[in-house]
Amino acid sequence: MKLTGKERTELVLEGIFTFVLLILLNLSIIILFNQMVAANPGIRDGIFIIRYSIGGVHFPMGTGLRQALLAAMLVIDIIVVIWRLIRRYNQYQLHHIIDELHYIANGHLEHRINFGAKTSSNSVKNVAESINALVDSVIKTMNDERKIEHSKDELITNVSHDLRTPLTSILGYLGLIQDKQYNSEADLVKYANIAYLKAKQMKSLVDNLFEFTKVRQTSTKLTINKLDLNQMLEQLVASFELEAKKYDIEITALDTDHPFVIEADAEKLGRVFNNLISNALKYARDGKLVTLKASQVNDNEIIIDVSNDGPQIPEKALNQIFERFYRVEESRNKDTGGTGLGLAIAQSIIQLHGGYISVTSDEDLTTFSVHLPAKPNEKLSYNEEL
Ligand code: ATP
Ligand code: MG
Repeated sequence: MKLTGKERTELVLEGIFTFVLLILLNLSIIILFNQMVAANPGIRDGIFIIRYSIGGVHFPMGTGLRQALLAAMLVIDIIVVIWRLIRRYNQYQLHHIIDELHYIANGHLEHRINFGAKTSSNSVKNVAESINALVDSVIKTMNDERKIEHSKDELITNVSHDLRTPLTSILGYLGLIQDKQYNSEADLVKYANIAYLKAKQMKSLVDNLFEFTKVRQTSTKLTINKLDLNQMLEQLVASFELEAKKYDIEITALDTDHPFVIEADAEKLGRVFNNLISNALKYARDGKLVTLKASQVNDNEIIIDVSNDGPQIPEKALNQIFERFYRVEESRNKDTGGTGLGLAIAQSIIQLHGGYISVTSDEDLTTFSVHLPAKPNEKLSYNEEL
């Protein structure tokens, strides 16, 4: 940190002034001392004895000892001047830091305190470094808050849009019924049915939203218990078999002849696989096969793959697929009725378990891989209900 010209002049003047004062002090001490010695023969004799005993040979009377004392005084004076100048210099630096702090506080958050590596003392450097780190962290917090704020706005926009669309339909069809604008009993049933389906869609969105906000909180507790993963996959296959048959898709769980016991929240894990399997059936209708397979990769990791053939998920969609409300454009246009929250919920649930979900997709196969730690983290092992 550089001093201004005025500060440098002040520093030089202060050095000279202090030095002159010290010299005057030395002179007055010498004069007082000489007067005291002259007025008191006892002291003179004492000094003679001391002088004789420490250096009678090397310090002949009246020469060496006096010069040595004067030299010592001069050295002390110089040390005091240097010490004072260093203190004053640090003070100037602190003033500079305070000025820069005011500058930053006045809204110039991009500014950082620049301290010269050579010139600054350690403590001044520490203060400047701490302030810079503090400003960095304040900016990070502000940006994080801005992002959260933005994402909340986005959430509200998405929710209101996704609720408004079915609600408009419901109101439209109920309006027709109320105004008796239908030609037959069959039409009446049809309109009521559409309104009912749209209401169910709304409920599913609200339920998913509730679930999403719940699993997003890192404080959400899991109910960890031992469960047989292979048995669970078999049960899932059985529960989806009928639906798969409807679309002429075969669904199987591979290598499930032996138990595969893990510790996890069975209900929440079921929620994850329900979504992955229903996605595989929903979005790959021209596919023929959905397979589930659990495997222990190494001592630390278990992977459960949910794969389907059928259309490839575009490369750029793969990065966003776990974001809430994200739907690949084609599926948005199709009437598959999803809320776009399923994968976001699944990812959060697996993260609560200390794992993550990844996805790969090519022309032949799309695979969602659930990575779980082989041993759940101690702090995740709860047995309380939510
Ligand atoms: P929800 O699951 O809430 O009912 P959703 O199925 O639309 O709604 P996600 O499960 O989050 O939402 O899926 C997000 C999007 O990812 C889907 O809309 C779909 O476009 C795409 N997707 C997910 N799984 C597959 C898959 N196996 N094959 C092709 N696309 C998929
Ligand atoms: Mg889904």
